[in-house]
Amino acid sequence: MSGEVPARVQAIYDEVLHRNPGETEFHQAVREVLESLAVVLDRHSEYTEMKTVQRICEPERQIIFRVPWQDDRGEVWINRGFRVEFNSALGPYKGGLRFHPSVNLGIVKFLGFEQIFKNALTGMPIGGGKGGSDFDPKGRSDAEIMRFCQSFMTELYRHLGEYTDVPAGDIGVGAREIGYLFGQYKRITNRYESGVLTGKGLGWGGALVRTEATGYGAAFFAEAMMDVRGESFDGRRVVVSGSGNVAVYGIEKVHQLGGTVVACSDSGGYVVDEKGIDLDLLKQVKEFERGRISDYAERRDSASFVAGGSIWDVPCDVAIPSATQNELDGDAAAVLGRNGCRYVVEGANMPATPSAVKAFREAGVLFAPGKAANAGGVATSALEMQQNASRDRWTFEHSEARLADIMRDIHARCHETAEEYGSPGDLVLGANVAGFIQVAEAVHAHGLI
Ligand code: GLU
Repeated sequence: MSGEVPARVQAIYDEVLHRNPGETEFHQAVREVLESLAVVLDRHSEYTEMKTVQRICEPERQIIFRVPWQDDRGEVWINRGFRVEFNSALGPYKGGLRFHPSVNLGIVKFLGFEQIFKNALTGMPIGGGKGGSDFDPKGRSDAEIMRFCQSFMTELYRHLGEYTDVPAGDIGVGAREIGYLFGQYKRITNRYESGVLTGKGLGWGGALVRTEATGYGAAFFAEAMMDVRGESFDGRRVVVSGSGNVAVYGIEKVHQLGGTVVACSDSGGYVVDEKGIDLDLLKQVKEFERGRISDYAERRDSASFVAGGSIWDVPCDVAIPSATQNELDGDAAAVLGRNGCRYVVEGANMPATPSAVKAFREAGVLFAPGKAANAGGVATSALEMQQNASRDRWTFEHSEARLADIMRDIHARCHETAEEYGSPGDLVLGANVAGFIQVAEAVHAHGLI
């Protein structure tokens, strides 16, 4: 872990461990927040009296359900579905759905817990939640994906609503899946309730820039970090792990801001492309063909593919881990530091392990946690809800300008809070404290519920 649990919050952490056995990612996410909160509890005795931290660590509701479906050959499969409605102090539960074989309750709770603070930092009226399934979409036909989504929604619909709980995508869930989920919700409820899901198709209630928002937002956040130091993306070498939605649009925006992304990856390995990643080719391979990153290297002379291995061996000035949780460990962090990396900005949720975060701190590498840096996705989901509620449709330029403002505001808030609480430059502390206080104040105002 990245540090000692301060004595003030040790008992709270012990209770979380005791009540949630085996949920290691959830423990990790809670611990990271608790490490930042001792300074807050010193200033706010009411949070201790009212057990505000303990209440925020306990989800308001956890739903686990069976998802039966049939594949194209007629074989029956049983998956498990989850929705953790973590906190609704600031608005309806909001957060994505993840379809990946690694999904279990601990993963969904870690994601839902982070989402509470992330959503608070956006300044938009959204609470925190997360869901998903251990269903593996890899290699599945369109028809199989549709049947799975329909079965999943047949249970989940009763828990959703534009004022109750509003899912979106995450790993394994994009516009196609949101379409099938929305169709089934509409069919069961007999309501065209646009605001019940975000990340919808552009022709039927979706918002411009939502697809690009998480990646663009992470790049805007990195730009804001550089800006306060009088620096910019100009001429910088950047490595972005992953090649999903966050990575692709992170790369696009880094290039527009003057940086060069020289490597990206998928679960099979990574590509290095000294000329800079060719975004059209990457989109063709990963988005349209749903292929492998090795196919990219085969079609591009300047690129080489490394099977397995660590993408963090590629020297860079800026690293944007955008694949998945705990993909960047202490050893990789040490290599990045030795190679002169100055900025690490989390595009994914919790991609850096606690020992990596500790290594960055010790080496003076500037680090931005995902709950701040990747909040652009969910912030733009809130903009989609706003457009749905007013039956309006904004231009790409207007939406992108709103996103850029939101990311700059989040950075400023984290930066200023870190200073105010005696840890200048520590964006982990700044994000945790600023997000927590906003949620805690609302929890407090609503009484003991
Ligand atoms: N899954 C995304 C996240 O991690 C987006 C959630 C949303 O748009 O509701 O924040």
